[in-house]
Amino acid sequence: QDHRDPTVIHTAHPRCLIKDFEKRPSVIHLLEHPFIKQVHGKDMAFQRQLAKLIQTQQQSGSIAKTRYERMHTKRPYVLNTSENCCLDDDLVNLEVLDEDTIIHQLQTRYADLQIYTYVGDILIALNPFQNLSIYSPQFSKLYHGVKRSSNPPHIFASADAAYQGMVTFCKDQCIIISGESGAGKTESAHLIVQHLTFLGKANNRALREKILQVNPLVEAFGNACTVINDNSSRFGKYLEMMFTPTGAVMGAKISEYLLEKSRVIKQAVGEKNFHIFYYIYAGLHHHKKLSEYRLPENKPPRYIDNETGTVMKDIITKESYRRQFAAIQHCFRIIGFSSEEVHSVYRILAGILNTGNIEFTAISSKHQTDKSEVPNGEALENASALLSIGSEELQEALTSHCVVTRGETIIRTNTVDKAADVRDAMSKALYGRLFSWIVNRINTLLQPDKNICNAESGMNVGILDIFGFENFKRNSFEQLCINIANEQIQFYFNQHIFALEQMEYQSDGIDAALVTYEDNRPLLDTFLQKPMGLLSLLDEESRFPQATDQTLVDKFEDNLRSKYFWRPKGVELCFGIQHYAGKVLYNACGFLEKNRDTLPADIVVVLRTSENKLLQQLFSSPLTKTGNLAQSRARVTAASRSLPPQLNAGRIKVDTMEMMRHPEETTNMKRQTVASYFRYSLMDLLSKMVVGQPHFVRCIKPNDDREAMKFSRERVLMQLRYTGILETVSIRRQGYSHRILFEDFVKRYYYLAFKAHENPPATRQSCTSILEKAKLDKWVLGRTKVFLKYYHVEQLNLLLREV
Ligand code: ATP
Ligand code: MG
Repeated sequence: QDHRDPTVIHTAHPRCLIKDFEKRPSVIHLLEHPFIKQVHGKDMAFQRQLAKLIQTQQQSGSIAKTRYERMHTKRPYVLNTSENCCLDDDLVNLEVLDEDTIIHQLQTRYADLQIYTYVGDILIALNPFQNLSIYSPQFSKLYHGVKRSSNPPHIFASADAAYQGMVTFCKDQCIIISGESGAGKTESAHLIVQHLTFLGKANNRALREKILQVNPLVEAFGNACTVINDNSSRFGKYLEMMFTPTGAVMGAKISEYLLEKSRVIKQAVGEKNFHIFYYIYAGLHHHKKLSEYRLPENKPPRYIDNETGTVMKDIITKESYRRQFAAIQHCFRIIGFSSEEVHSVYRILAGILNTGNIEFTAISSKHQTDKSEVPNGEALENASALLSIGSEELQEALTSHCVVTRGETIIRTNTVDKAADVRDAMSKALYGRLFSWIVNRINTLLQPDKNICNAESGMNVGILDIFGFENFKRNSFEQLCINIANEQIQFYFNQHIFALEQMEYQSDGIDAALVTYEDNRPLLDTFLQKPMGLLSLLDEESRFPQATDQTLVDKFEDNLRSKYFWRPKGVELCFGIQHYAGKVLYNACGFLEKNRDTLPADIVVVLRTSENKLLQQLFSSPLTKTGNLAQSRARVTAASRSLPPQLNAGRIKVDTMEMMRHPEETTNMKRQTVASYFRYSLMDLLSKMVVGQPHFVRCIKPNDDREAMKFSRERVLMQLRYTGILETVSIRRQGYSHRILFEDFVKRYYYLAFKAHENPPATRQSCTSILEKAKLDKWVLGRTKVFLKYYHVEQLNLLLREV
C-alpha cells in the first residue's frame, strides 16, 4: 500500500493534506480538511471525485497519481516537491515579472478563493468580501511555529512570523497593515490579534478573553459607516500585545491617533455618526431605558439625523444595533469597567446627543443685536441633567464668553452662529476626551500583572491599523490628515523595502542591482517641512483672526512650490494634491476652524463643576493621548535622535513641549492646533514603529462594489502600482532582506557549526562555516555583514530549533 507516500497526495494542491494523511489516513478526515473547502468552495463534485480517487489510491497508488494529475491539467500548479510548497504562493517565484503576469496570478488565485499571496516576506491580502472558513482554531493550529512554506499564505502566517521573530530574537516586532479604505485592514488586524492570543497561550484565560474584546470596544466608538466602508476606522490604532520572555501573552496597550471628532456633529450625505450612538439608541430602547437617559423617542437627535432623514423606527428596531449593544456591554464587563463607569459613559453619550439638540435664537434690542438665547429649554435641561451640570451655567457658557483685557474681565455675548459653534465644539471635546479616556482605561485594565513579569523585561508585537487612503467627491481637512498619515506609512514602507536596504549594499560593498521606485519624500516635504510646508502655512494662517479659508488657499498657492500641488481654475476654495495613491481635490471650506479646534475656557470651567466624576476627570487636566506625559515625551525625543536620518530628516522634528496638550485646549501658552498635534502624533507613531522589526501586510480592494468574487483588473492594477508591488517583487527577488552584522550572526547561530563551549571570532570565516554547515546558498558576505534572503533566516531558525 502506497497511501503513505507523500508524493502521491503531494501532487494534489492542498498541501496540508499530507500531514494529516500521514497521521490519519481516513478519507472522511481528508475531505473535512479545511483547505479542500477553502480552495474548492462547495464543489461537491470535486469532493466526490477526490473521495473516489483516494479510495482508488488506497488500492493502488500509482494509478491514482496519474489520474489525479490529469484531473488538474486545466489548472496546473508548479510544485516544488522537495520544499513541499506551491511556487505560485509567492510572486517572487514568477518566471516572467510584469504587471500582466502578476495580475493574472492574483486573479487566478482570487477565483480559487486564495486571497493571500506572498511577495517574499510581505503578505498581499485581497478583500474576499465574504466570510471564509479559514480562520477556525483548526487553522490556528496549522500556522503555529512551522516553516512558512508548509502552508498556503495566510494572515496567520504573518502573525506567526512576528511571534517567532519576537521569541527567537527577543526583539519587539511590528505588523504594519496598509491599504485604502475598505481594503480589509481592520479585519486583518482582528485576525492577527486572534492568532497572537492563540500563539501566546496564556494560562490566564480571562486575560485572553479581555484582549479579544479590545478591538470591538474601541471600534464601536471609533468606527463609522462611510460611503466607502460600513465599518470604516475613523482613527488610527496601534495595538501592542505584550509577552513574557517565554512568549506568553501578558497584557496589551492601545495608542489612538487623530479621531475624526467632527463626525460627532456632522456627517456627509450617505454617512453616519460613530457606531456607538446607534447601538445605545437601539439597546436602551430594548431595555426600556430611553427615558432614563432622556433620549427622545419620536425623532432622532440632530447629530444622528443625517440629511437623508433618518427614521427613528429604523434605528431603534434594528436587530444588528441591538446585538451590538449587547456585545459592547459584554466587552465593557469582560475588560473590567465597573457598571458605574459604563453608566457614566452612556450618560455622557446621551448628554452629547441632547447638547446637539440645543437651539439658539437671536435677541435683538436697541442696544444689542448679537445676543442669543435658548428658546426651548428641554434639550438644555436634558443635556445639563445628563452631564450633571447646572443648566443656567451651561446656557451662560454657550451664549456668552469672558474676555480678559488688561487685567479686567469683560463678558461678551455670542451671536446665534457663535453659540452653535461653541455647542458643537463642546460636543466634539466631550466625545474626543471620552474616547481617550476609554482607551486609557483599557490600557490600565490590561496592564501586565507585575507578579507575572515586569513590563521592561517583556517584549511586544505592535499592530498598526489606521484609516485608509480616502478620495471622496468632496474632501475636507479630515481627508487631508488621513491621506498624509497614509503617505507617511508608504514612505516608511519605501524606506524599509528600498532605500535602507540599497544603502546597506553600497556601504558594505555588495554588488546588487538597484531597483528604482517612486519616492514620495518630496510630497511629504510639501506637507511637513517647516516653515514652508502646507501644515506650517495652515498653522500660521490659523493664528490670524482675520484670515479666511480663501486667504489660506491663496497662501498655499503663493508659497507651495511643488509639482504635487495645484489650484484648479474656477473652483473656489479648492486645491489639488497628487498623492502617491492618486489625485485628490480638497475643499478648504472650514479648514481654519477645524484646525483651530478651540474650546472656550468658559465651557471647560462649567464642565469641571460636573458632579459626574468621570466628566470631572475628563476636563480636570490636559489629557495626553498616551497617558503618561513624561514617558511619551521621552520616547519622542529619543526617537527623533535614533531614527535613521532617512526616516527623520528634519521632516517631523517636533517641539515636544508644544505637542503634549490636547488640541482644543485653550491656555495662556501658544494655542495648539490640530495640525501641530497631528505632526506630533505621526512622530509618536513612528517612534513606536521603528523600534520593532517590521512585517508588512498590504491589503487590496478587488472592486469598489464590495462584491464577492469580483476582480476588477484596473482597480487592482492601480493599487499594485501605487503601492510599488512590482518593484517590491523585484527587490525581494534580487535583494537581501536581512543584513546581519558578523558579530550578531556568529553570536546567534554559532551552535550550527561550532560546539557550545567554543567561542568563534566574529569573522567572515566563522560566518562562512555556519552558512556552509547550514547548506544555504545564494547568500553574500559584505565587509561587515551577512546578506541573506528572506527565506534563509527562516531556515536558519528552524535548524537552530533542531539543535
Ligand atoms: P478603513 O480604512 O475604511 O478603516 P479597512 O481597510 O479597515 O477600511 P475593513 O473594515 O477591514 O477595511 O474591511 C471592510 C469590509 O470588508 C469588512 O467590513 C468586511 O465586510 C470585508 N472584509 C475585509 N476583510 C475580510 C476577510 N478577511 N474576510 C471577510 N470579509 C472581509
Ligand atoms: Mg479600518
